[in-house]
Amino acid sequence: MPTLFHNLTLATMRDADLGLINQAALVCEHDRIVWLGKEANLPVQWQALKKSPTHCVNGNGGLLSPALIDCHTHLVWGGSRANEFKQRLHGVNYEAIAAAGGGIISTVRATRAATEAELFASAKERAEALIAQGVSCIEIKSGYGLSLDHELKQLRVARKLGAELPVRVVTTLLAAHALPPEYKDRADDYIAYICDTILPATVAEGLADAVDVFCENIGFSREQTDRVFAAAQALGLPVKLHAEQLSDQDGASLVASYKGLSADHLEYLSDQGIAAMAAANTVAVLLPGAYYFLRETKLPPIERMRAAGVNMAIATDANPGTSPIFNLPLMMHMACTLFRFTPEEAWLGTTKHAAQALGLTDTGELKVGMRADLALWQMSTPEELCYEFGINRLVKRWFAGN
Ligand SMILES: [Zn+2]
Repeated sequence: MPTLFHNLTLATMRDADLGLINQAALVCEHDRIVWLGKEANLPVQWQALKKSPTHCVNGNGGLLSPALIDCHTHLVWGGSRANEFKQRLHGVNYEAIAAAGGGIISTVRATRAATEAELFASAKERAEALIAQGVSCIEIKSGYGLSLDHELKQLRVARKLGAELPVRVVTTLLAAHALPPEYKDRADDYIAYICDTILPATVAEGLADAVDVFCENIGFSREQTDRVFAAAQALGLPVKLHAEQLSDQDGASLVASYKGLSADHLEYLSDQGIAAMAAANTVAVLLPGAYYFLRETKLPPIERMRAAGVNMAIATDANPGTSPIFNLPLMMHMACTLFRFTPEEAWLGTTKHAAQALGLTDTGELKVGMRADLALWQMSTPEELCYEFGINRLVKRWFAGN
């Protein structure tokens, strides 16, 4: 039996003004949207649903949007870095923390030591926090295992979250996140190990939907990134990139040359990179949480990306080192306050453009035929979600119509 949503405003995301429809209704059947429009135009075949106690949702003048999509997270990890956070605030510098075994390597150690069940339990809590804020789809990267077994373990946990929670999980292999200690001074050998061993095994188990690399002077070079991308492409996987976060490595042009789904971070993005991304329709995924947590001052070139017509998305970048944040509406707020996004851009950045950044074409918009991943908000205009911070205005969320 279909379900009717009525007495609400729809934010369809079909255009730059969010395609708002006031005094609207929407009908879904099974997991799909089958009709939407002005409530006055509701076809007669569904009007009786208004009397149904179980298949009618009265929006009470609220806002119905696509459920939100968090298109960049590192949600599965072991251990905690709260102690490092404390040490830094007590004046201990990064070098001293790293010398004592801290930093990303401490997360790698803890992730390797953790069982799948332990990783699942901690990641479940994080995913549930996102779900409670209206999220229906989460991208999850590996990158704290840095060996065949432990990368696959992380990805298996991510897949299990998607199987056991009411959320869609899209997985990304990020074995080229950092150099594991056993490959110290042998980065090229590690890249070969990724291309020859980790990538094929991941594909064989069907554990990754895309491949990512951390291209940075403290990560992997453009040339090493190119090797991983070529191997991913040969195996039929789309690519994305941690690019231009701390310096300009011209990574955006590289990922665009592979028709990559997205380039992420982009604080140091050049005009050349912008032009390449626009031409390839590669999404810019901006991460205000990391910018905020690291107290960065270099802003991504929002105005120039906007002028070039690059689609922009935003995400939590949820991770233990640089963005321990599990709140996507807060990222919408920060995209507006820190990056000067318009509220419309912030919404498109967590719906339509976030779907594009994951290569998904069946979610992120309210349109006939799309999945019924819906969020009902206690607010009459979309900008309210970007403006306020601290009250959860989510009334209810539907995942594939449920
Ligand atoms: Zn990241």
